[in-house]
Amino acid sequence: MGMMNQPSALENILITTKVEKVINWSRATSVWPMTFGLACCAIEMMAAGAARFDFDRFGCGIFRASPRQADLMIVAGTVTYKMAPIIKQLYDQMPEPKWVIAMGSCATAGGPFDSYHTIQGVDKVVPVDVYIPGCPPRPEGLLYGFMKLQDKIMASSMADRYKEIFEAVG
Ligand code: SF4
Repeated sequence: MGMMNQPSALENILITTKVEKVINWSRATSVWPMTFGLACCAIEMMAAGAARFDFDRFGCGIFRASPRQADLMIVAGTVTYKMAPIIKQLYDQMPEPKWVIAMGSCATAGGPFDSYHTIQGVDKVVPVDVYIPGCPPRPEGLLYGFMKLQDKIMASSMADRYKEIFEAVG
């Protein structure tokens, strides 16, 4: 009798999938970026957070001053070798799940600074989820990149995420 009330394997999969979709939706619409800027692109990031572009509309307006409270790192600016270990440390201090946007040519690939002091892309230091081209990208570019990140979060599976993490740490 009790067995008849148990959900089937298919129903279990459907319930799990639906719960994951709700969790993903809540994550994608309440992203907390870290207060963090490296160079000129950061000015456009600040503009995106101000009234005209209103980042808050997407649930992404609460910039946090601590990596412990943030789940998005927007790397906005030039990544120097001197800053690289600090960026890595801040990334490591963010709790999972977490995401990274490389905003602008410098963060994406070194930008105009092909020189001894500049890393040719922040993805050599931390994993990047979305790249936004431009020098600098306009605030609309950041908003578009953020919407791409929301799509990625909505399509994500925590099982895959933890698999990636375990593979990364060996
Ligand atoms: Fe500055 Fe251009 Fe580099 Fe952005 S991409 S930090 S605007 S030099």
